[in-house]
Amino acid sequence: MATLKLHNTLTKSLESFEPLAPGGPVLLYSCGPTVYSYAHIGNFRSFLLADLLRRVLEMRGFAVRHVMNITDVGHLTEDHLADAAGEDKLSKAARELGKDPYQIAAHFERCFVEDATTLRLANYRGAEAQDQTRHPRATAFVAEMLAMIQSLIERGFAYVDAAGQVYFEIAKFPEYGQLSGKDLDELREGVRVEVREEKRDPRDFALWKVDPGHLMKWNPHDGTGFAPGAFARLQALVPGGLDPRLGVGFPGWHIECSAMARACLGPIIDIHTGGEDNIFPHHECEIAQSFGAHGDTTAGRKSFARYWLHGRHLLVDGRKMSKRDGTFYTVRDLLDPERQGRADLVAPLRDLGFDGGRVPATVLRHALMSNAYGQSMNFTLELLGQAKASVDRLQSLHDRLRERIDAAPAGPGSVGPGFEALLAGVQSGFDAALADDLNMPNALAEVFRFVREVNAEDPGPAASAKALEALGVLDGVLDVLDRRVRAGLITTAELQARAAAKPPAPSLPPEGEPLSPALVAALLVERHAARLAKEFGRADAARDTLKRRGVVIEDTPHGVRWKLP
Ligand SMILES: [Zn+2]
Repeated sequence: MATLKLHNTLTKSLESFEPLAPGGPVLLYSCGPTVYSYAHIGNFRSFLLADLLRRVLEMRGFAVRHVMNITDVGHLTEDHLADAAGEDKLSKAARELGKDPYQIAAHFERCFVEDATTLRLANYRGAEAQDQTRHPRATAFVAEMLAMIQSLIERGFAYVDAAGQVYFEIAKFPEYGQLSGKDLDELREGVRVEVREEKRDPRDFALWKVDPGHLMKWNPHDGTGFAPGAFARLQALVPGGLDPRLGVGFPGWHIECSAMARACLGPIIDIHTGGEDNIFPHHECEIAQSFGAHGDTTAGRKSFARYWLHGRHLLVDGRKMSKRDGTFYTVRDLLDPERQGRADLVAPLRDLGFDGGRVPATVLRHALMSNAYGQSMNFTLELLGQAKASVDRLQSLHDRLRERIDAAPAGPGSVGPGFEALLAGVQSGFDAALADDLNMPNALAEVFRFVREVNAEDPGPAASAKALEALGVLDGVLDVLDRRVRAGLITTAELQARAAAKPPAPSLPPEGEPLSPALVAALLVERHAARLAKEFGRADAARDTLKRRGVVIEDTPHGVRWKLP
């Protein structure tokens, strides 16, 4: 296997990746969504970069401990300026929608999880999806944030103003700017003109905000607002007690990720991912806080993360996404435009071949992952059309290979050395492309070389089985195929054995829902049992049920062949 190389924003160079603990697990932290609205495709380009990285690491044999947070408080509308002005995005949404911010957060978190699951993010599969330490909510870690803030005050990196707010004093951390490459004087020009009185330097950023009008707030001294058990945790973390000047307030966005990364992964992590717009100020601030509070350093650098990976911007039609131009797309807008009130998208998507204007999630996933993460992506509806063609080609190869295998269940056949070499070559080419800083365009070129050559070869059953296995490895990263078993053969011997056991008639899902292969088999057994008992009406009913649900069956000398719609 080629050595994995990643472009590290911190060193601005391509570096070989080795986990801190030899052999792993790789500790991976990704900045997650702020749950005040539906996630858009630019957000998901970033989350899919994390997903790609994780899958590549796993393909290379590493275990990955992946944490992606949920920001449900403290992300201000003007946080890109790093001066703690603006309104909390959640409070703003709550005010506009006339709801409680906790309700807003819970609602949009649920929507995010649905989108993440539909787009097949690996960290939302199986038991991991339910693990709160893999998807920490900021509001659940306020104790850890306050403990970190206390440490920053004690170590002289932060100060408390008259209102009980806490700021990080950037003059105490000369490395501030190392990630973004900004120098401190340049930053001075970037901040707003009116100097906020309570700050020592306009460039200082907030760790703890006090705002009596804010609906989500925590009293660090008596535990009001804390989740059950959290205040006791805070007291244990800060046995000497908190600075009495701290006001009733809420955490800043930046401290959240520093505290959650440490609480869920430990003091030093391997890789931190995010979007390009997170580099400054968000990640710059995370580095400053983690060093200030705990002295976290790695490889001689004052950074708690060893590698920093950032996905470049996503543009739509060559420009920034814009609601006014109709180029602002949430994931849902594309998956089901009609339902989202985006009738404007239905006709152009239908023209591109999308049934009802609905884009399958696998197609959107493929489109958002198809270019190199280090280059900005120009998203267009035509790109979705191309992604559809790619996914369709992969799916039809998959289905053909399956059919080949099913057509000759008994005969293994043989695989020629040329075909073996083709498969090995494709796999090593795919690996080498991804090892080169996750170069997806080159990896996809290997995938489609594979499709072309396997199609040209027209392999027999044994070679098809090998090719299907190779396709499975490629799709372990791409994850765009419907790999369900869609066709099969139930042998006469099996039908007889199962009919002899006199099973009850199968209970079926409502009309319109797909039948599983197990239910198809159960209906075929039912038909067989009825025929043996000469109950032809019952046999016909089973056959009609299959037909009505779109299942094609064919009686052959070996048994009954079936195919799902
Ligand atoms: Zn973050």
